[in-house]
Amino acid sequence: MLITRRVEFSASHVCRVARLSDEENRALYGAASNPNGHGHNYVVEVTLEGEPEPQTGMVFDLKRLKDVLQREVVDPMDHRFLNREVPPFDIVVPTAENLAIEVWRRIEPHLGDSRARLRGVRVYETEDLYVDYFGGRP
Ligand SMILES: [Zn+2]
Repeated sequence: MLITRRVEFSASHVCRVARLSDEENRALYGAASNPNGHGHNYVVEVTLEGEPEPQTGMVFDLKRLKDVLQREVVDPMDHRFLNREVPPFDIVVPTAENLAIEVWRRIEPHLGDSRARLRGVRVYETEDLYVDYFGGRP
């Protein structure tokens, strides 16, 4: 069984590779390479996989999942300039792809001692664009 929790946060970012020129970055990322950044209302969906525990009927304590997401993702990222305020995005380009990997890295260690396992992280950068990450090699 799969169970998914969704959270939202707003943040700004700029997509550029430091060692490339302005022109090369513009060619790669378009307007997203503007050094002054731009914002998104990110939506993150975290999917857990497991069997409902017979007594509780739950795959995972969803209160706990909500708390983990709030503490590890929303609180540190909401209303932040990701490149400047949220490591590793001072070094790693904060694309939706890398954000999904980072969300996985932040929450996976906190889902231990349960019957559920993290199955996927989906990050919507816009309504029309999302990435799915299922762990392992990105
Ligand atoms: Zn963007």
